[in-house]
Parts: sequence; C-alpha cells; structure tokens
Amino acid sequence: MNRINELFGIKYPIIQGGMIWCSGWELASAVSNAGGLGLIGSGSMYPEVLRQHIRKCKAATNNSFGVNIPLLYPDIEDHINIIIQEGVKVVFTSAGNPKKYTSRLQSYGIKVAHVIANKKFAIKCVEAGVDAIVAEGFEAGGHNGVDEITTMCLIPMIADTVNVPLIAAGGIASGKAMLAAIILGADGVQMGSRFVASKECSAHINFKNKVVVAGEGETDLTLKELTAVRLIKNGFYNQIQKAYTENATHKELKDLLGRGRAKKGMFEGNLEEGELEIGQVSAMINTIMPVEKIIKEVIDEFESERNRISTLKF
Ligand code: NDP
Ligand code: NDP
Repeated sequence: MNRINELFGIKYPIIQGGMIWCSGWELASAVSNAGGLGLIGSGSMYPEVLRQHIRKCKAATNNSFGVNIPLLYPDIEDHINIIIQEGVKVVFTSAGNPKKYTSRLQSYGIKVAHVIANKKFAIKCVEAGVDAIVAEGFEAGGHNGVDEITTMCLIPMIADTVNVPLIAAGGIASGKAMLAAIILGADGVQMGSRFVASKECSAHINFKNKVVVAGEGETDLTLKELTAVRLIKNGFYNQIQKAYTENATHKELKDLLGRGRAKKGMFEGNLEEGELEIGQVSAMINTIMPVEKIIKEVIDEFESERNRISTLKF
C-alpha cells in the first residue's frame, strides 16, 4: 500500500495544493470526491470564511479533505482553533516553522504535512514530527523557497535524507510527471496549477483563461526580498522589474506590492495590476476541465507510461 494513500485514506496519491483565492470548498471537495486529497487554501480567508468553507466541504464530500495554512497568516490562532473545532482531519502547513503547531494539531488526531523547498527545512520537519513532507521545486507557482532547487534535484535529495512519506510538488500536471516524481522517490504528488484551470476552482475566469494561454518563459520567481513568489509576467511584474533597475529599497518594494494584489489578480481578474501566481507548468496546460476529468487523465496517462517504460530494454 502506498504510504500517502494510507496516511490520508485516499484512492490516488494526488494532493491538490492549497492555493489562496483559488481553492475553496468547491475545488477541495471535487478533488476529494474524485479520489485525491482536496485542500482548502485558508491564507486568503478570514476565520469565519474558513469555517463556512470547511462546513460546505464536509457537506459536499464524505472523503478525506484538508486545510492548508500558510504560517505567515496574521490570524493563525483563530484558524487553528476553527480547524480543531470543526474536526478537520488533515492540515498542510507552509511558509514557516513546522515546530510551532504540529504537535498541538496531532494531539487532536490531525495528520500534519509541511511544505519545504530544501533539505535543511526537511530535517526540521522530521524534528517537528510531521506525518508527511511536501517538497516543492523551483518550478512551482506562488510562494516558494529562494534556493531555486528544481523538482528533479529536490525530490531524490529529500528522499535520500528523510524517511517520512514524501509528496513531490512543482511542475507536475500530468501522469508522466507523476510517474517521474514517484520514480525519483516520492510517494505521491501535489498539483496546484493544473487545478487552477478547472471548472471548480474559485479563481476569476480571466485568470483561468490567462493560465491556459500562458506559454514557456511567461512566469518568473521574483520578490525574493519580501516573500519569493512565482507569477505571470504582466504590468505589475514589469513595475517590479523597473523598481529593481532603480535599486528600490525593501520598503519601496513593499509599498509597490501594497495590499491585496493577489486578490486583485486571481479573484477579481485584473490581469494587468494584480498578482497572478502560477507555476512554470502552466505552459503545458491548455484547457479548463472539470476536476474529475483532470484526475482521470492523470491516472490514465500514469498507467500507460508505466506500461511503456516497463518494456524498455538497454
Ligand atoms: P496581503 O497582505 O496583500 O492582503 C491580505 C489579503 O488577505 C486581503 O485580500 C484580505 O482580504 C485577505 N485576508 C484574509 N484574511 C485576512 C486577515 N485575517 N487579515 C488580513 N487580510 C486577510 O496578502 P496576500 O494576499 O499576499 O496574502 C494573503 C495570505 O495568503 C497571507 O497569509 C500569505 O501568507 C498567504 N499566501 C499564501 C500563499 C501560498 O502559496 N500558500 C501564496 C501567497 C500568499 P480582503 O481584501 O477581503 O480584506
Ligand atoms: P523567517 O524566514 O525568519 O523564518 C521564521 C522561522 O521559520 C525560522 O526559524 C525559519 O528557519 C523557519 N522557516 C521558514 N520557512 C520554513 C520552512 N518552509 N520550513 C521550515 N522552517 C521554516 O520568517 P518568515 O516567517 O517570514 O518565513 C518566510 C520564509 O519562508 C522565507 O524564507 C520564504 O522563502 C519561506 N517560504 C517557504 C515556503 C515553502 O516552503 N514552500 C513558502 C513560503 C515561504 P531558519 O531560521 O532556519 O531560516
């Protein structure tokens, strides 16, 4: 039995990444109903909004689902309390130190996974006693580590370093990529960008359409001085680049980012002024599909590729 399937009680070892403004209850429950693990992205939700999403998710699926909490979230104590009160069974933490909440959540029977982007943080996860690790490569969309380690290098390195169930993320949107990640040492995969271009994703249709037309080289990992983020190059991105050429200070960059850029871009659909967080693999995503179809295509391709390579002889 696959360790990730067993840990979360799911059919396929496919996790849907928790993504601000994109993964509400509708996406999370659709992924869980299709046999994966859906995650509500709580980073963009006020505490009572999160509670409503959890309740709607529970009503929409009998399968396991979870909540992702970026540890940078301002009202994190409220989120943790709501998760405990509502009986959520799985939490994925990211962007911070896993020592802070892991054992408390586990004392309520919650399984905890933490997202990392290098070996040093993977070791911290083991020390914190997490149940699983998500290792996210440079290709990934949204917030990311600053070391620029690609999924191809990161996954085998983490698999050789720790012995906790391992989920690969960054650049995975197909059955081929899922098979590759498992061959590199992962037990399962986390996909974000592929699920943005889904019917059930809560993002604005302008953003979904932008993801579909994005080609190679159209994203960049920037703002490393603040919180590194991979986004689509647009008017807002050009303003950042201009600020860099003018040797902008930390404060000037922060002021330029302002408040609510991610909401403006991904939720309100302002493609020029907003922040459009997506992974490099958007270049290979060409359709908006229902979640069930996405997961079926990934699993079918995984099986056919597994058969194809099993016949290889050298
Ligand atoms: P900003 O500071 O620019 O804006 C805050 C946004 O979050 C607003 O749009 C606000 O909604 C919403 N929000 C939800 N709950 C709260 C709260 N308790 N206090 C203040 N604002 C709240 O932040 P970002 O939009 O860049 O990021 C928001 C959160 O998402 C952060 O916690 C960040 O760590 C996380 N994040 C996680 C990512 C990931 O990959 N997991 C990627 C990017 C961000 P409103 O406009 O309706 O007031
Ligand atoms: P700091 O960078 O000062 O970090 C606060 C504490 O959390 C430090 O002890 C730091 O370890 C630790 N820490 C930070 N990120 C991780 C992690 N992913 N896993 C384990 N421990 C971690 O303050 P911030 O709270 O502002 O953290 C922002 C940092 O998080 C940035 O460096 C950013 O690159 C990273 N980040 C990582 C993401 C990911 O893993 N996908 C997502 C978003 C942000 P230490 O003292 O050893 O550095």
